[in-house]
Amino acid sequence: MKIGFIGLGNMGAPMAANLAKAGHTVTGFDMADVTVEGVTLAGSAVEAATGADAVITMLPNGAILRSVAADILPAMTKGACHIDCSTVDVDSARAVAGDAAAAGLLSVDAPVSGGITGAAAGTLTFMAGGAEEGFAIAAPLFDIMGQKAVHCGDAGAGQAAKICNNMILGVTMIATCEAFALADKLGLDRQKMFDVVSTSSGYSWTMNAYCPAPGIGPQSPADNGYTPGFAAELMLKDLRLSQEAATSADADTPMGQLAEALYARFVEDEDGLGRDFSAMLPRFEARNRD
Ligand code: NAD
Repeated sequence: MKIGFIGLGNMGAPMAANLAKAGHTVTGFDMADVTVEGVTLAGSAVEAATGADAVITMLPNGAILRSVAADILPAMTKGACHIDCSTVDVDSARAVAGDAAAAGLLSVDAPVSGGITGAAAGTLTFMAGGAEEGFAIAAPLFDIMGQKAVHCGDAGAGQAAKICNNMILGVTMIATCEAFALADKLGLDRQKMFDVVSTSSGYSWTMNAYCPAPGIGPQSPADNGYTPGFAAELMLKDLRLSQEAATSADADTPMGQLAEALYARFVEDEDGLGRDFSAMLPRFEARNRD
């Protein structure tokens, strides 16, 4: 397949490289100066999109997606498919899907879970929204870049699944960290705490697979000085998207709201910027010492 790939950052570069490695002809574009193995670089997004069977975007946010889409959709071949893998707001995903349909194109919103390790290893999970015809074109590409793809529903359903998942992730990480910090205050050994919770009803991905306490559980960013991994500011971005969606859908999400406020304080007023989102644990430790 001829694939255009726009946004070759931490996630996009390894995803594009995996498509090229699998034998697809990939033409990429990024505003920054990048090189990606197996990918031919174009001089503009429009050039990368022209003549492609599928165009993948992997961009920072909804505003940038909308502006790139306004440029590339009119340049794409009728019947080709636009696959947006960025994490963006549901409204932007739906607006871009509407513009794609008006231009005679298929489209899929397909945000991912699995981070930069999953992108490099080709083990991402894709959550997709859009019509069946678009998903059918995208599915073989998801198989190369990931290990699982769930077709969640119509346009925007992939983004809806992603922000609901990450709202649970943010809330659960905070709960895991504050429980560790409370356990410290109560004189409970951290390893014992892990041994109990990871096999009891308080277990979660944040405890069992991504434990925020250094030296406990499987290897995680906590064992590497809280270097991301998944940066606190990206968690904040996703929590903000979940709360924007909750406001526009008139849904009551008090825990999501609290998690957003806490990560906002952590990133903007404390020392969370540039640290993994599990560094919420040393934050609680410091507050409990004060
Ligand atoms: P990144 O900042 O490393 O990459 C984004 C790239 O887009 C950059 O290289 C930037 O130069 C490029 N870009 C920006 N504006 C552009 C434009 N107008 N035209 C062309 N290129 C442009 O970010 P990332 O970590 O690769 O994340 C990309 C998306 O994936 C985000 O939406 C993020 O929320 C989501 N995501 C990231 C992770 C993660 O762990 N990093 C995990 C899941 C989802």
